[in-house]
This record gives sequence, structure tokens and C-alpha cells, in this order.
Amino acid sequence: MPIFDFKCRQCGHKFDVMIPALEKNKVGCPQCGAANPTQLLAPFNTSRPGPGVRKPKPAPDGCNGCAVAGTGG
Ligand SMILES: [Zn+2]
Repeated sequence: MPIFDFKCRQCGHKFDVMIPALEKNKVGCPQCGAANPTQLLAPFNTSRPGPGVRKPKPAPDGCNGCAVAGTGG
């Protein structure tokens, strides 16, 4: 069974759980009980910060600033 690392969005608690991939979305923070923790992409304990691999953040759907506002002269 794979181990997934999570970080709580609520309290910032980091934890790992050994669950089947299908159960990932059911994980909750063991500290404060908040749902939908952020999944960390570090399968094993990596204690060195290093340059690391930067992952591009997925752009949220919908853009608030794209609409061209008509500006009168
Ligand atoms: Zn928490």
C-alpha cells in the first residue's frame, strides 16, 4: 500500500497515511480534523530543502482580470 504525505491547510500539520490511492480524498487531518489536506509530493522523508523541483501551480478556472473593461476617453 502506498504512503501519501499530506499537509493540513487548517493547522499546517504534516502527516502521512498508508492508504490505497482511491482513499486519498477521504483523508482528514489527524490533528484538527480538517478535510481536504494538501497532498505533498514527497513520498519519503526528505529533510533537505535543496533547490528542488518547482512545480507550476495550476491556474484556477475563470479569470477575473481577463475581461477588457471599456474605458471611456
Ligand atoms: Zn489540521
